Amino acid sequence: MKTYALNLQVHNQNNLMQTISKQTIEIDGAMGEGGGQVLRTALSLSICTGKPFHINNIRANRKKPGLQRQHLTAVHAARDISGAYIEGDEMGSIALRFNPNKVQSGNYYFAIGTAGSTTLVLQTVLYPLLLADGDSHLILNGGTHNLLAPPFDFLDKVFLPILKRMGAQVTITLERYGFYPRGGGQLKVHITPTPHLNSLHLRERGQILTCRAKALVTGIPEQVAQRELQRVSKKLKWKKECLELCPLPSDQGPGNVLLLEIQSEHITEIFTGFAQRGVRAEAVADGAIKMAKDYLAAEAPVSEYLADQLLIPLALAGKGEFTTLTPSHHTLTNIEVIQHFLPISIAQTQLKENVWVIKVKN
Ligand code: ATP
Repeated sequence: MKTYALNLQVHNQNNLMQTISKQTIEIDGAMGEGGGQVLRTALSLSICTGKPFHINNIRANRKKPGLQRQHLTAVHAARDISGAYIEGDEMGSIALRFNPNKVQSGNYYFAIGTAGSTTLVLQTVLYPLLLADGDSHLILNGGTHNLLAPPFDFLDKVFLPILKRMGAQVTITLERYGFYPRGGGQLKVHITPTPHLNSLHLRERGQILTCRAKALVTGIPEQVAQRELQRVSKKLKWKKECLELCPLPSDQGPGNVLLLEIQSEHITEIFTGFAQRGVRAEAVADGAIKMAKDYLAAEAPVSEYLADQLLIPLALAGKGEFTTLTPSHHTLTNIEVIQHFLPISIAQTQLKENVWVIKVKN
């Protein structure tokens, strides 16, 4: 009995020493892009590695700096799955302290309360939950098709198939569409734990198999979606049978997005035009068309956005490489944040004009 008590005392002391010796990582939220990604990557990797962090200048380079609804929901979601100790979790806060415990699988409901992006909240909790002991079921409520965030379709058809190749089993179901400003969209996610992600080697795109354009529309005249598709036909010369107008249920709008899907032998990519008040349908289409044209010309498999999103899984796998377009400021910032948490090297090498290879090594 005495020995047990003594052991327990030593054990508790060790725990205390470990807690004290766990060094808090300092992150400057103004680094590089200075947006929400710095925070989301830090939250995700803090839980995956068990390393606490302190971040200052959150979203310093944005018009409205500090934690907004979507970011605060991501912070609380990260706390809920890891029982983390946090300080500074308030609307508008520009500093946050986050000290996670072990990640817990389970059933979670995360509601943003505005049209903020559900896919970005998912981006935060996905990797820790892949490392958990059991299956997790999530319901996320908010926006599902937001400007400057991956739309549901991108996660479903582009990102998850690649993650599956790395060994992860994740399914996402769209239960309701959610557009800005109304929100109210809902995603259902099932995550099966995958403690070890395989590396990824994605250097070739292969033959282009199909190109399809879909214009989703609800609560605004269908003519807007028709004009977007006409623009695609004119500028990309895609045939009529590849263009699809998709009216959505009237209670899930108003909203409109144009999705350009390019399916190749080794990967599918999606380029999105998000309708915005005061922006003509042709201009919405032109944004997506320009991205698709640049992608087709570069002949690299991975788009700028996917490059961004593949960095964390590759870093957790410890190795991997892919060919992509010129890395964005956003991608370079994400690389910097990842290297604060994981002892890996991420190198970018230019192969030719607008074609780069990104390599992750231990
Ligand atoms: P803020 O910087 O205002 O906080 P944010 O929280 O939305 O904004 P960003 O730092 O801009 O965060 O990160 C946006 C994320 O969404 C990145 O991971 C980027 O790759 C992804 N993304 C943006 N637009 C698209 C798109 N059209 N398709 C796929 N992914 C996208």
